[in-house]
Amino acid sequence: MDFLAAVLKFNENFISGTTSDATSSLPYKKIVVLTCLEANLSALLSKATGLKNDQMHIIEIAGVKISNPNDSVMRSIILSICKQNAEEIWVIGHDGCSMENMDPSEILNNIIQERKQNTLLTLKDSGIDLEEWLNACGDEAENVRKSVETIRNHPLVPKNVLVHGLMMDQTSGKLNVIMRDEKEPR
Ligand SMILES: [Zn+2]
Repeated sequence: MDFLAAVLKFNENFISGTTSDATSSLPYKKIVVLTCLEANLSALLSKATGLKNDQMHIIEIAGVKISNPNDSVMRSIILSICKQNAEEIWVIGHDGCSMENMDPSEILNNIIQERKQNTLLTLKDSGIDLEEWLNACGDEAENVRKSVETIRNHPLVPKNVLVHGLMMDQTSGKLNVIMRDEKEPR
């Protein structure tokens, strides 16, 4: 049974309330988890996967959306692989994201009006698309797929590092795999 399958088995038991001491039977592997910054998500993730803090490097970003393959999120993922010996990367979105209905224009207008931030108007006038930059909403499962592709295709991510995409029910903690990396692990 591979590592993902073992954690999914643990997750099944967690959902049915039969975890007992199953965490001790999970194989030890270090992974990077890229997930949303929704409140309490990472705490539920620990319980629902049975993974320990020392084997999970959790990176939280709004909407699980990597905006740029050269940004600080990708740098953290690459350093986690190279310096912390992470062997797999799991991109985990969740249902019912509070940012799905966010309106970037409304947020920007509120900032401009409430704080009299004329600098923002100058940035907008100079052609910088702040709405697009701020926009983390939309279909979070689609964000997961795009982020998985960005990581898999990044030239500095070793090809034998597995990159999976999952969605988690944020009430029950149930995990569903939406993109399974089928290649041989390193
Ligand atoms: Zn979210």
